[in-house]
Amino acid sequence: MGRIRQAVNNSDINRFRSCVQIAAFGLLLYGGYLAVDLGSHLPTFACPFVENRGASCYLFGLQHQMNIPVERFLSGRGLGVLTGLVTFIALLVLFNKAWCGFLCPVGAVQDWMTRVRRRIGLRYSAYSEEGFRGLKKVKYVLLALLILIPLGMSNSFAGLPRLSHDFSTPFCMICPGRTVLPLFSGDVSQLVVDFSSKTKTVLTGLGMAVTGVFFAGSFVKKRFFCLFCPMSALHYIFSKAALLRLRKDGGRCTRCGNCYRVCDVGIREIADDLVSTDIVKDDCMMCFKCVAACPEEGCLRVTFIGLPVYESTEEGFFRRMERRVGDGA
Ligand code: SF4
Ligand code: SF4
Ligand code: SF4
Repeated sequence: MGRIRQAVNNSDINRFRSCVQIAAFGLLLYGGYLAVDLGSHLPTFACPFVENRGASCYLFGLQHQMNIPVERFLSGRGLGVLTGLVTFIALLVLFNKAWCGFLCPVGAVQDWMTRVRRRIGLRYSAYSEEGFRGLKKVKYVLLALLILIPLGMSNSFAGLPRLSHDFSTPFCMICPGRTVLPLFSGDVSQLVVDFSSKTKTVLTGLGMAVTGVFFAGSFVKKRFFCLFCPMSALHYIFSKAALLRLRKDGGRCTRCGNCYRVCDVGIREIADDLVSTDIVKDDCMMCFKCVAACPEEGCLRVTFIGLPVYESTEEGFFRRMERRVGDGA
């Protein structure tokens, strides 16, 4: 048992993560060809606009389900909303935000763009961390809107008229997952502005603009879109109940900053916070690069139901360093 744990702790988590990302991408985007159907409540962007997908994103169903009169929440349809939420939470509780680091196709595309940038030697632009700190709140606003707008289609609040049905799935209309993921099946049909109504023109026009920002943002920051992702906001609400955790023993931390330097989403607390034991912050994607980069024995630790899965060790750190030198990285 000790040997297995030692081998896991010495392993290259980045390589493992890349392999899982490729497998998940294949399963979620092309699983339909093999009759795979993982359901429609996945806590990740398995986009329903991809024809032969193997699953669907929970946000798509949630927006449809919220198009319901408030008084009917206690009826059968309300029960459907609850069942969907419970399924989503159960899946999230299993893997926590590792859905983002290991399984999300939109996250994978952003990581691949980072690789392309590195290969062609393009450096990231300088940006103010403070500025981004404020922008991070956008994901909570988007989450509230994607629930409230569909509710406003079936309900009239404060005497205001109900919203048009053209507002159904408002987040999907601006989500880069809808425009980018079908491209991997050769489908360009989502890369258009829908002029059939004013609302659709505005929403799909906005969607095209967001797609442009999605690509341009990748030249500014790694995982740029993830900063604004309402799925990430929804994850964080239930993250504390998850079985998979990232823990820190502040007493072993020397604040060397290695973990912060490798963190693609720039979570400063991973190095600076010596008090919290559960160290998953709202932008964390649980990629565990920080654990691999930490040279202190047992300082950062991944656990599942409290049992250690992967932890920082001095030996593992130096093994990975040697491998990187060998690879010429
Ligand atoms: S935060 Fe990023 S990785 Fe996570 S669901 Fe959103 S797009 Fe995917
Ligand atoms: S790499 Fe480890 S020791 Fe260094 S700051 Fe991060 S948690 Fe602390
Ligand atoms: S804090 Fe660690 S696990 Fe979270 S995103 Fe940063 S490197 Fe990945």
